[in-house]
Amino acid sequence: MTQSCYFCKGKVVQQPTSVDFWWGDDLKIIENVPAGVCTQCGEKYLDSPVYKQMERLARGAGEAVRRFSVDVVRYSVA
Ligand SMILES: [Zn+2]
Repeated sequence: MTQSCYFCKGKVVQQPTSVDFWWGDDLKIIENVPAGVCTQCGEKYLDSPVYKQMERLARGAGEAVRRFSVDVVRYSVA
């Protein structure tokens, strides 16, 4: 199935990708998500069953395979 990107009209290809998923204040990064990814701008397209499953995983159904810390920086003009 060939799809074109809603935003830039680039080509969307199906490929496993990592998705940053916020659940409240909790950030989970879910790897290996089957998604359509725009080859031009990187926009991700997820089917709704995939999204539902990501919700389940983010709420604790998925075991963390590794952790890393993330710096949070507040926007300011130097
Ligand atoms: Zn695009």
